[in-house]
Amino acid sequence: MNAYIYQAALYCEDCGDSIRARLASEGRAPTDPTDETAFDSEEYPKGPYPDGGGEADSPNHCDGCGVFLENPLTSDGYEYVAEAVAPGGDVAEQWADFYGIEGREAA
Ligand SMILES: [Zn+2]
Repeated sequence: MNAYIYQAALYCEDCGDSIRARLASEGRAPTDPTDETAFDSEEYPKGPYPDGGGEADSPNHCDGCGVFLENPLTSDGYEYVAEAVAPGGDVAEQWADFYGIEGREAA
C-alpha cells in the first residue's frame, strides 16, 4: 500500500491526498508538489511511497484513519509481530495474515 510522510507521521494514500487537498485549498501547497526537493515533509506530505513507507521494526498504520499500511518488516519486526499476535485480536490477526506469522509466547 502506498503511504505519505507528513510531520514525522505516515498516512495512507487517501489521508495523504486529503491533507494535500486541504493545504492546497489554504494556499499552502508548494508551487510544484512533484519536486520533493523544493519542500519539507513538515510542510506538505511527501510521497506516495510504495510498501507502506518501507521496511520497519513494526507494522505501520496510517496516523489519520489507522488503516494497516502493509509495510515490509525487519527481522526485529517479525519478532515483534510474533509476540504481538499471540494474544489475538483484530489488528493482530490482520498482521498475522499479511505476514504469514504464527503467534507465539514471548521468550
Ligand atoms: Zn488513512
